[in-house]
Amino acid sequence: MQRTTSGLGIAGRVPGYEAQAQLEQAWRPWVKLLDVAVQAAESGAWASTVPQLPAQNSAAWPPYAPLLEGASIRVDARRARKLVRELIHAADEAREDGAGWSTGLRGRRLDAVGLLHAAIVRDHAAVTRIATRAGIDAQALEVIAQLAVMPLLHACAEQWREHIPSAWTHGYCPVCAAWPTLAELRGLERSRRLRCGRCATDWPLPVLECAYCGETNHDQLGTLTPEGESQTRRVEVCYTCKGYLKAFTTLRPMTLRTIAMTDLGSVDLDLIAQEREYARPSQYAHTLTISVSRASASR
Ligand SMILES: [Zn+2]
Ligand SMILES: [Zn+2]
Repeated sequence: MQRTTSGLGIAGRVPGYEAQAQLEQAWRPWVKLLDVAVQAAESGAWASTVPQLPAQNSAAWPPYAPLLEGASIRVDARRARKLVRELIHAADEAREDGAGWSTGLRGRRLDAVGLLHAAIVRDHAAVTRIATRAGIDAQALEVIAQLAVMPLLHACAEQWREHIPSAWTHGYCPVCAAWPTLAELRGLERSRRLRCGRCATDWPLPVLECAYCGETNHDQLGTLTPEGESQTRRVEVCYTCKGYLKAFTTLRPMTLRTIAMTDLGSVDLDLIAQEREYARPSQYAHTLTISVSRASASR
């Protein structure tokens, strides 16, 4: 099972991003937002929100459906609203123009439960509707919403870990359907594990397989490595679908926090890939059908 980097095709050498310091400046404000979401995930407060695992009739259950498919999630609306408001507040602090969405939000309704649903299934139109009603920039709310679902999805992944099909062979998360945030090349044997940045689920995919389109022809797969760096971080690219995925060597599995911080701290790799016109898919391969509603026992 030993493999070498050359097995991935021609490793393109690209210059390191010169404005690294500027970049760090740019992403630093996001650390606070991430911290709000990750702290909520680590607190365990969302464990009671995890729905029953949808009944999986083995005969009818599509082998490509993530565990969340068909779930009916009931959320404490106040908890959801509190988290979203905390995130919006943190986003306000990160703004350079001094204006604040929190102020404008007072007295306006923000459908936090609807927002969680829209974020999980990645319904951009619904996020935009909720943003318009609340007087918040839609793109900012999209980011906030993805952070807001982390505690709930992380709790699902923790409780359902043993139900993840061992034969899962897809590039998307077997729990929440998201594309992997990054790939780990783990341990001395550098086994490739894909990691979900929303729920921290961890699943294997062969080194020579594109997570997005399933390409396995090694002539169609390559890597980009920042110049002057050792092989601890790189970008895996697919010439067939023009997709890219950041990959990092690690000894141990990353925690949700480490995944998020590693992703945020490697924006230079995203730029290296995007400058060469590689992209991450804007749509999920599988659109979840789930319901998210307000729990009646909401205090
Ligand atoms: Zn996931
Ligand atoms: Zn591909």
